[in-house]
Amino acid sequence: MIDKELLKKLVLPFGISPTDGEVGMLDRYSDMLFEKNKVMNLTAITEPYDVTVKHFVDSLSVFSVISPKDGESFIDVGTGAGFPGAAVLIMSPHLKMTFLDGTRKKLDFIKESLDLIGLDAEILHMRAEEAGRNACYREKFDYVTARAVANLRELSEYCIPFLKLGGTFVAMKGSDSEDEIKEAEAAISVLGGKISEIKSIEIADGVKRTLVVIKKISQTPPKYPRTSAKIAKQPIK
Ligand code: SAM
Repeated sequence: MIDKELLKKLVLPFGISPTDGEVGMLDRYSDMLFEKNKVMNLTAITEPYDVTVKHFVDSLSVFSVISPKDGESFIDVGTGAGFPGAAVLIMSPHLKMTFLDGTRKKLDFIKESLDLIGLDAEILHMRAEEAGRNACYREKFDYVTARAVANLRELSEYCIPFLKLGGTFVAMKGSDSEDEIKEAEAAISVLGGKISEIKSIEIADGVKRTLVVIKKISQTPPKYPRTSAKIAKQPIK
């Protein structure tokens, strides 16, 4: 159960005004999340206020930096229980949305929930670094998002290979990300990206976030992404 009025109010600064129908779908998604959370570990956030703010409003904050159009391709990497991807798809149901995660059970939850809401998406059970080397997914997406998956340097190697030239990656980070962003700058450039915006936002009282917006300006060299072990042990400098 989300706080519908609170959600409507808090997302206005992102330039969106969800209809009652859209808010109803977000609410149904949260109900399904709680139902499933009784039998599998999908989220540690359970208070209605926290769920509203930290899952749904936070997910919708991506609209403050991007305006994806119908038919554009979008992949949410390390989506877990569908954040931010499910909230984005509910607001933009005509996107070609792909949910990627290495954990099958969480993807099954997303699929079941979207089926019940009547939304269509591709469910991709793969490691990001494998999908990024696969010709079906490499440089095929207009947008990539990721929240709470890895530090920005590693995350960039997971995510930038998915982008078409001119595409946009939004990395959703906490409030204290300056050092993390600095450390990732060289890797972002090597991978073909360029930071176009770093947006600090307060999504609710005292809840601060940073959105790092990265544009793809050149092709990712074929050697990336490497294996996850190499990504972790030999950071691009
Ligand atoms: N994005 C969701 C959120 O913010 O609620 C989930 C965050 S959860 C902490 C991290 C998720 O990333 C997990 O579901 C995990 O399986 C997935 N993940 C981590 N590394 C991955 C990789 N290399 N490829 C695919 N999925 C990955």
